[in-house]
Amino acid sequence: ICILGIETSCDETAAAVVRRHDDGSGEILSDVVFSQLDEHAAFGGVVPEIAARAHVEMLDGLVEKALKEAGTPLGSVDAISATAGPGLIGGLIVGLMTAKALAAASGKPLYAINHLEGHALTARLTDGLEFPYLLLLVSGGHTQMVLVRGVGNYERWGTTIDDALGEAFDKTAKLLGLSYPGGPAVEEAAKRGDVTRFDLPTPLRGEKRLDFSFSGLKTAVRQTAQAIAPVADQDIADICASFQYTIVQTLRERIGRSLERLLGDSAASGATPTLVVAGGVAANTAIRDMLTQLCGEKGFRFVAPPHRLCTDNAVMIAWAAAERMALGLPPDGLDVAPRPRWPLDNQSAALVGHGK
Ligand code: ATP
Ligand code: MG
Ligand code: FE
Repeated sequence: ICILGIETSCDETAAAVVRRHDDGSGEILSDVVFSQLDEHAAFGGVVPEIAARAHVEMLDGLVEKALKEAGTPLGSVDAISATAGPGLIGGLIVGLMTAKALAAASGKPLYAINHLEGHALTARLTDGLEFPYLLLLVSGGHTQMVLVRGVGNYERWGTTIDDALGEAFDKTAKLLGLSYPGGPAVEEAAKRGDVTRFDLPTPLRGEKRLDFSFSGLKTAVRQTAQAIAPVADQDIADICASFQYTIVQTLRERIGRSLERLLGDSAASGATPTLVVAGGVAANTAIRDMLTQLCGEKGFRFVAPPHRLCTDNAVMIAWAAAERMALGLPPDGLDVAPRPRWPLDNQSAALVGHGK
């Protein structure tokens, strides 16, 4: 199965062609991404209007490039796929409309894909994982612990009750006067900082559920900075170190409990217990090191797909469509609508209990 994928849900415009072989393995034939970082940097965050306009300008050229690099003309792909949600409505419309036009012109089936399903299934392409596995998705827009039981079969165990994790990094960076995107800037500053100088509050301390909360932490950073104003370089480094440390500790505690829960899940027995991380925040070395260590302690396999496939891309969209098509799941009609809000555990074609 050979699929063209399109991704336009946030600030990356992307197109890719992916092949799925009968044995379940995958092959990336092309992977083209245009990141709009520079367009949004001046505003310290993604501006929806600017994003939609950039998607319109870039997408046709990127699709053409992806098909050309893959050596597959439109007529020889088996299906066309695009992200239908969740995401910014302007971008979703651009991507999905383009996919519909290509599907109509070529007579190929259309798959309207959930962006989170793309992130969730990527590790099967990169590492050939079998179900089930636990997914930690941490990006600028999402923070979720999900049990991936099968294609279309996702169980959300925890999410953020306020800011996404990447968003917390970005907002913290902004209020400390660091550059955008905030994640890399905060991580860099934290390396020079003293974690013991400030004691920031641990979000949702002592609560039994598996949810996350980051907005209180951001407020604590603001108050800390105000209390010692004017802040010098070293102050910023110390605050960043404490901020990142607090996040690592919170994640460690929540994920540790999720791993325990997975061990107790009957559906998971037999398989090697596995944790997969995805999303732009997965680039953070302190978080990665903690996850590696935690999985080592608990006897879990830890899988982190290459950074390029952890952040937004169209390979994962094409791959999710390929997985659906391989199972014989029906394509979507040309009247399918974009869904800016579309929870992962509410898939239209949920399947239960298939293992491969
Ligand atoms: P979506 O949420 O729709 O998947 P996005 O564009 O918001 O899309 P990504 O592109 O996956 O998310 O990731 C960007 C986020 O990752 C930003 O919030 C950025 O600050 C964060 N990030 C990147 N590198 C690091 C890092 N080293 N440490 C912490 N956060 C990071
Ligand atoms: Mg992005
Ligand atoms: Fe994403």
